[in-house]
Amino acid sequence: MTTDARVDVRVDRPPNPDGDHVLYWMVAARRARSSPALERALHHARTLKRPLLVLEALRLGYRWASVRLHQFVVQGMADNARAFADAGVRYHAYVEPEAGHGKGLLAALAQRAAVVVTDDFPCFFLPRMLDAATAQLSVRLEAVDGNGVLPLSAAPRAFTTAASFRRHLHKTLRPWLRQLPDPEPLRGYDLGWAEVPAEVASRWPHAGAWLSDPASVRSLPLDGLGAGPLVGGAVAGERAMEAFLEERLQRYPQRNHPDEDVASGLSPWLHFGHVSAAELVRRVLVREEWTEERLGPVTGSRAGWWGCSEAAESFLDEAITWRELGYVFCRHVPTYARFASLPEWARTTLAHHASDPRPEIYDLEELAAAGTDDPIWNAAQRQLLAEGRIHNYLRMLWGKGVLRWSASPEAAWERLIELNNRYALDGRNPNSYSGIGWVFGRFDRAWGPERPIFGKVRYMTSDSTRRKLRLKSYLERWRRR
Ligand SMILES: Cc1cc2nc3c(=O)[nH]c(=O)nc-3n(C[C@H](O)[C@H](O)[C@H](O)COP(=O)(O)OP(=O)(O)OC[C@H]3O[C@@H](n4cnc5c(N)ncnc54)[C@H](O)[C@@H]3O)c2cc1C
Repeated sequence: MTTDARVDVRVDRPPNPDGDHVLYWMVAARRARSSPALERALHHARTLKRPLLVLEALRLGYRWASVRLHQFVVQGMADNARAFADAGVRYHAYVEPEAGHGKGLLAALAQRAAVVVTDDFPCFFLPRMLDAATAQLSVRLEAVDGNGVLPLSAAPRAFTTAASFRRHLHKTLRPWLRQLPDPEPLRGYDLGWAEVPAEVASRWPHAGAWLSDPASVRSLPLDGLGAGPLVGGAVAGERAMEAFLEERLQRYPQRNHPDEDVASGLSPWLHFGHVSAAELVRRVLVREEWTEERLGPVTGSRAGWWGCSEAAESFLDEAITWRELGYVFCRHVPTYARFASLPEWARTTLAHHASDPRPEIYDLEELAAAGTDDPIWNAAQRQLLAEGRIHNYLRMLWGKGVLRWSASPEAAWERLIELNNRYALDGRNPNSYSGIGWVFGRFDRAWGPERPIFGKVRYMTSDSTRRKLRLKSYLERWRRR
């Protein structure tokens, strides 16, 4: 059962004894498996003997809304519709046909609810949306954190480096590894089919037509950025996870070489909650035949603590330490999206070099169109345009390029947010801001020698990347769009 450490009671009232259903308002963990919020909602449903009603809605009027993002989410809704129907649970998917049309839907379903449960996600517009729902609803409302393995409430502060967070994890993670979410929480559901009142269903109809043809979201008033080859949803996410675990995990230490392409590629599905990060960790540990006795003493060291293979250890370090570092940061630092949230040493050294001449200043359109003089950077940008993702290592180089070619570090910051969050499927995530922040020194240390433009912030160049990494076929593939 979902532990209390993951539950933030936003409207603290007893469940409404006259409620018709328990409402799960799915906003981040967009899946029917391995979900602490869904588990919590089912717990209430069983205790109160009320059917579960799941609402998954998709708004139009948020920043960067595009055909690319919408199609990915709607593909996920189609999978969820099947999964909940198979389990006998009523699922109401709603896709807003015009901005603002969905206003009132949550309140209408909550009015008949005994309890409302939702996801607690620490980034983008979701915390504001949750605050608005908290102010509006008069029924018990609980926000459940299914973001990672360590509950956000078990990290008492933001950490400034991965090393300090890793040390915290070594001290605190053990009990949470025993409480990974149930992969199949819907198994045995027998509480019946919740009713969506007729007036609600006619004003905010189930998104059936969109779900049968997700590409039709093209007709919505959205940024026309088209979908890429990746298919959204729990089914495609599961396939991608299985392929990674079967075929590439053991070669993960080679991941920096773009030609090897052995990283999981799971961040788009993780971002939209189609794949559960905790489930991914569980599957890695099962493959390693891991038991808790293998955990080593607290060292804070990147390797050796888990008692797993080298490949599994390095993957777990990215998927837990680095991933959750960003979530914890967003939870504790509400200004995470502002340049001013960077560490003082980094802002000072960047300010000191702000008037250094730039080798070139490209405008945002030139960058977006992969129109620089640097073939490696252009290749990375073309992959982003076409697929909505960038190879891990090259994403760092890509970020450093924008810093080098912008008039000021502040302008580079804004341009990176724009490029990353507009084109990347996994954008608008806590790790969008950790990755972008890292380009400017967040979670890193000062480096020498001091360089023009970068100052003491870590310096990376395409020349050294070309020397160090195998990337011939990557460049060939992304030479032209
Ligand atoms: C400029 C810049 C922008 C970035 N923007 C994003 C973003 O918008 N969304 C995003 O999820 N990540 C972002 N990252 C972090 C990282 O590049 C991606 O998480 C990773 O490349 C995703 O590929 P993967 O799923 O194959 O990762 P894998 O190597 O297979 O790792 C598995 C998972 O661990 C997590 N992870 C891996 N590396 C990191 C990292 N360095 N920091 C945080 N989490 C990590 C991700 O959830 C990832 O899916 C950014 C990094 C940089 C330098």
